[in-house]
Amino acid sequence: MHYKELIKKVSEMIPKECEPTKIEPEGLSIVVYLKNIDAFYKNSTLIKDLATAIKKKITVRADPSVLAPIDSARKTIEGLIPQEAGVRSITFVPEMCEVHIEAIKSGLAIGKGGAVLKEIMQKTGWSPVVIRAPTMPSVTIEGVRKINVLEAEDRKKFLIEIGKKICQPAPTSEWLRIVGLGGFKEVGRSCLLIQTQNSKVLIDVGVNASTSDTTKAYPYLNMLGFSMSELDAVVISHAHMDHMGFLPYLFAYGYDGPVYCTPPTRELMVLLQQDYINLCKKSLNIEPLYSKKDIHNELKHIIPVDYGEVVDITPEIKMTLYNAGHIIGSASVHLHIGEGMHNLVYTGDLKFGFTKLFDPANIRFPRLETLIIESTYGGRNDISVNRYESEMQLTKIIEETIAKRGKVLIPVFAVGRSQEILLVLEEYTRRHPEFQVPIYIDGMVLEASAIHTAYPEYLREQLQRRILSDRSPFENPLVKLAKGTDKESIVNGEPSIILAPSGMLAGGPSFEYLKMMADDEKNTLIFVGYQSSLSLGHKIQNGMKEVPIIGDDGKTKLLKINMRVATAEGFSGHSDRAQLMAYLKNLRPTPERIITMHGDLNKTEDFARSAGALLRKEARSMANLEAYRLR
Ligand SMILES: [Zn+2]
Ligand SMILES: [Zn+2]
Repeated sequence: MHYKELIKKVSEMIPKECEPTKIEPEGLSIVVYLKNIDAFYKNSTLIKDLATAIKKKITVRADPSVLAPIDSARKTIEGLIPQEAGVRSITFVPEMCEVHIEAIKSGLAIGKGGAVLKEIMQKTGWSPVVIRAPTMPSVTIEGVRKINVLEAEDRKKFLIEIGKKICQPAPTSEWLRIVGLGGFKEVGRSCLLIQTQNSKVLIDVGVNASTSDTTKAYPYLNMLGFSMSELDAVVISHAHMDHMGFLPYLFAYGYDGPVYCTPPTRELMVLLQQDYINLCKKSLNIEPLYSKKDIHNELKHIIPVDYGEVVDITPEIKMTLYNAGHIIGSASVHLHIGEGMHNLVYTGDLKFGFTKLFDPANIRFPRLETLIIESTYGGRNDISVNRYESEMQLTKIIEETIAKRGKVLIPVFAVGRSQEILLVLEEYTRRHPEFQVPIYIDGMVLEASAIHTAYPEYLREQLQRRILSDRSPFENPLVKLAKGTDKESIVNGEPSIILAPSGMLAGGPSFEYLKMMADDEKNTLIFVGYQSSLSLGHKIQNGMKEVPIIGDDGKTKLLKINMRVATAEGFSGHSDRAQLMAYLKNLRPTPERIITMHGDLNKTEDFARSAGALLRKEARSMANLEAYRLR
């Protein structure tokens, strides 16, 4: 439906005594400005009726002329929210007629059935938006939230423009195709183009951060066949570099459309992209392709979407994100294209199995014809040990190392494995109070953990409860933050456990520790996550005892690996082969066609064969630059 028709419909349904002054699309919703808020609340089902009638979110705001002055509104709000809510900040955003209330216990600030919010709105006119504060301080969250307020004017303009663009009558497309631009028959630089006659959408725009070879590191955006400004939307499945590391580049080169992702993905993405700029300069010796300015610009264009929300991203494509169980905020992307023409699911990275952090990936979709599935561990032999055994294995290696008075280095992705391992260690130390070994976390691990505490609803229920009742397992007294210069004293100090990114030893703090620790045979290096075939981690994991590295003088030298090298399997955020097969078996509805990606060449092919045989459907692996017509 055209947005003008939507506006007409809404204006017909709103009673005159509400005194509506303006109705306009803004991002994913239709915003109604009213002079008489009380009159609107008299009809308790009106907002629901409106949303049902236009099949869109409705946002109600007071007309700017009836807003209470900021000072008195602040006092009123402070009086209405109970002390126990732990309000951290109250910020007014006049451009949106909103007041952002950041609280530790956001539920108390909202009140039963939204009672407190309603009262704030009726007494002050300002539309309250309650945001959960992290239980640990986070500069990233603070930064992201600040930019949204500072750039409110630009952002509103952008959202109105997008709102109008997606509310157009949907033209009928006669064809639909997908083009693999990265991450096909490989892991890294994931990027998929979904194209119809009338829409162009990218899902994921990653980099392969474990290589400085630029022909292998970036997706084939130069082969798009059209300019970036013609793209309608970008969807990001989750905040790992191989899925979003290249996104700021789009903004540096002319894209100015929306980016859809979950709220935790937005925060983590910004954190890791900023870190990548530093990594490029310091460790990979390549010039970063984008700057902080581009990340800032990207942030202005992000439209956060929660799991399960059905949103229009082009006039003919509806998108819904579902839990993928991989890292916080990770999503499988469901696209409903045309009026029932085609339904596609892009799984993203997927965990269909037990983890301490998340529920297993969603397996129920409204409709599904084409499934594009990751296959990192899709090979016949990729069966990992069960979780209980993995934890025993990990803690045993740690105990043995500490008994020898050595130190343990665990290279981890800042997001995902590090939190999972922190939870395992937290449980272990709770059960073994005599184990008083410091756990140092370096790089972005602390910041990423803090972001987890702001989004407990994205975590498993048990973990959610602990965070909400001030027993956050991320705040373990044994966990200590290692700052830049502490590395040497940690390595020369008492036995300890060190968790540091990058996860594949491709630069970053883990690589710095490795250089200092590799020579001492009392120390242990434990791999807990995926090692890309291009990475240093892969070489060491496979037994290489002398690895070439670039020394401080810029010359190549050999690093001797005398330390013990071990792998603790089973902590992966990816499904192993058995879990991937179980996912397919339990998936409803059964797709007509399966396409595999995100795995080494033989794994994507092997998994495609097995998936096809299991479901008796067409299944294949696709290559980069290959296009496939689905309709
Ligand atoms: Zn991932
Ligand atoms: Zn990935």
